[in-house]
Amino acid sequence: MDFKPLDIQKDSENKQIEKTENVKCLIIGSGPAGYTAAIYASRANLKPVLYTGLQMGGQLTTTTEVDNFPGYPDGITGPEMMEDLKKQAERFGAEIRFGIATAADFSGKIHKITIDDDKVIIADAVIIATGATAKYLGLEAETKYAGQGVSACATCDGFFYRGKDVAVVGGGDTAAEEATYLAGLCNKVYLIVRRNVLRASKAMQDKVLKTSNIEVLWEHQTLDLFGDNGVEGAILVKKKGTPESEIIKIEIDGFFLAIGHTPNSDIFKKYLETDEVGYIKTIPGTSKTSIPGVFAAGDVQDPHYRQAVTAAGSGCMAAIDAERYLSELN
Ligand code: NDP
Repeated sequence: MDFKPLDIQKDSENKQIEKTENVKCLIIGSGPAGYTAAIYASRANLKPVLYTGLQMGGQLTTTTEVDNFPGYPDGITGPEMMEDLKKQAERFGAEIRFGIATAADFSGKIHKITIDDDKVIIADAVIIATGATAKYLGLEAETKYAGQGVSACATCDGFFYRGKDVAVVGGGDTAAEEATYLAGLCNKVYLIVRRNVLRASKAMQDKVLKTSNIEVLWEHQTLDLFGDNGVEGAILVKKKGTPESEIIKIEIDGFFLAIGHTPNSDIFKKYLETDEVGYIKTIPGTSKTSIPGVFAAGDVQDPHYRQAVTAAGSGCMAAIDAERYLSELN
């Protein structure tokens, strides 16, 4: 590819290092949104450069089977699917680089993104596809049983718990939605709620409370998980810190976290409009952010659907929006 360093400087050890580089289309993030944007952008001759971030392949690399992405009739593992998407982007000339966007400057007409605190990319168009990170409780057991009963995505993994007993942690719309979804697949769903109210919308609350195989465990918190062969149960504390406090055990095969996601938008928040949680706002029906030439795709701008296929679709939109922006710019 013909990217020319604008400025070759010397660092303190007098080594020559590239400090800035001009790129037509920069894509940040290597989940389904980023790679799909790269496929479309490279086919449109935008010569995209994609920085993968720390977790190459994104959230899907932490899941096992993916059975709901169209085009894989026999399913596929998350890591394999992401490798396929990467290869497909490379086939059309996208340049995939390992590196983390550590700072952004959208204050002027040009868009500057710092990579690894070391090098500045000056991009005509930027597609932000940095995803979101599911929140965990912080228990050691969550790491121990990752992929063996612990999941942060009921839509992705619920299928593996058909006919079994599971628990969902959280009291917001996601927890309510995931509990309802799992109730349609599983024998029983415990909804572990730390307060005596749900934060979820009234309509979602009604749905949860009317579903006969969901049992809400009000004012419960999770202390630990146990099991010799994956998750077999959870130890909970009821009314923690009060005289009525009580430890209980539930037997479950799946433990689903639904206590919120953190969109990976910190470095952009100073310049782009976000909602109160940090999701980047886009103009409805487009991937356009509040800054011309900066587009957002995937979970970093989507608190609602958060699916691989919706992320991929929005990555496609971002590349098309970027292409139109660049052609108008020229
Ligand atoms: P929220 O932040 O709304 O809710 C998080 C829930 O997790 C809260 O009930 C919170 O408890 C609980 N929680 C947080 N930390 C812990 C912890 N350490 N231990 C136990 N419980 C914990 O996140 P959601 O993902 O549910 O929703 C995010 C946004 O997306 C919201 O605006 C929501 O309305 C929206 N959304 C909309 C949907 C729709 O319209 N269909 C579907 C899904 C999400 P507490 O209440 O005590 O703080």
